[in-house]
Amino acid sequence: MQKLPFVNHEKLKEITAQYPTPFHLYDEAGIRHTVRSVHEAFSWNKGFREYYAVKACPNPFILKLLKEEGCGVDCASLTELKMAEALGFSGDDIMFSSNETPAVEYEYARKLDAIINLDDITHIDFLAAHGGLPERICLRYNPGGELLVGTVYMGQPDSSKFGMTKQQIFSAVQRLMQLGVKRFGLHALLASNAADNNYYPANAMILFDLAIDLKKKLGAEIFMVNLSGGIGIPYLPEQTMPDIGAIGASIQEGFAKTLGAAGLGNVNLATELGRFMTGPHGCLVTRAIHKKHIYKEYIGVDACAVNLMRPAMYDAYHHITVSGKEDALCDHVYDVVGSLCENNDKFAVDRALPQIDDGDLVVIHDTGAHGYSMGYNYNGKLKSAEIMLHPDGSFSMIRRAETVKDYFATFDFCDILDGVSDE
Ligand SMILES: *Cc1c(COP(=O)(O)O)cnc(C)c1O
Repeated sequence: MQKLPFVNHEKLKEITAQYPTPFHLYDEAGIRHTVRSVHEAFSWNKGFREYYAVKACPNPFILKLLKEEGCGVDCASLTELKMAEALGFSGDDIMFSSNETPAVEYEYARKLDAIINLDDITHIDFLAAHGGLPERICLRYNPGGELLVGTVYMGQPDSSKFGMTKQQIFSAVQRLMQLGVKRFGLHALLASNAADNNYYPANAMILFDLAIDLKKKLGAEIFMVNLSGGIGIPYLPEQTMPDIGAIGASIQEGFAKTLGAAGLGNVNLATELGRFMTGPHGCLVTRAIHKKHIYKEYIGVDACAVNLMRPAMYDAYHHITVSGKEDALCDHVYDVVGSLCENNDKFAVDRALPQIDDGDLVVIHDTGAHGYSMGYNYNGKLKSAEIMLHPDGSFSMIRRAETVKDYFATFDFCDILDGVSDE
């Protein structure tokens, strides 16, 4: 199947006339559409809430849009908490799913009355000492072993650093009840980028069973089951989008059979989707600036792994479209590479593409989650701008590109770089 960008060549020419490449471009209409599809899929659960995983795309304009659509936010650091606070999120709007949490972060999360998602049993005393225990809390579960759904392998919880064992969950709930905590949520994140429609329902069933157990054996009041993130997106052209409607329906069925039957039908479901919400609705727009022929054919572009780290970090596939050449024959084989002094700075290796000429606009797909946000500053390369394409075809900058001065800003305590300019 042909995989096309959400932006056509004419529009891209218009945008690049105003904003130099490289930049990440986001599709507001696409994001809104996906949020609505998630809300629809879980509309059978009265207290349902999607807490967008801020780390996936921590841009306040995007968070504001998600807030308008009714989402909460899932934060994991002080900076993310402060961004959420500035946008007017508070209390039950914020999930705080941190791990190895510094004291100041718990204190700040408590100040905002965020829902604390406790990663470890030892954090009970730590949180009590730093911010104090809340009235309601969520606990992060790690069932260990391998996660198999039928015969399909989905993840390796026993080598994941997150969450508590079953026994620890029971001890934690007991202890927290003694300390005055009244209501409990349960959370698990057992896979990442799961393409299979069965992952999310399987994760849900594990938590539903645990909730019933805790209720039965300890009399704990369970107010929420948090399914976390992990639903995948089709990075490859031959993949299809997970069917969120079918996923919601399957969880509804499991919910009725377990929680519903056990008298726990009023439990709220929560999700912390990141990739699924925004991943397909962003792309990295870059320009071909060099062509090199040695033992292979290389196309050098003006973006690099600083702008999108997933290919270098995970060997991840990101589809590439040469804008304006959507229908041209893919009769060339290229490595599409960035400018870092690192041989893993390759957006594509041995990729069949149309002939690429200097100046061509190259669109790297599916960068709307874990794209810009994973960036860094190796080689002193600067982070790009972010642009939002609005439903009416207009567009606006939602983050400017970094400048050399920004890079030097952490030397502002001394005068050694005074006089350095961006020119
Ligand atoms: C990363 C993360 C998510 C989001 O994961 P996606 O793969 O983007 O859906 C949600 N919850 C927690 C705790 C995470 O660490």
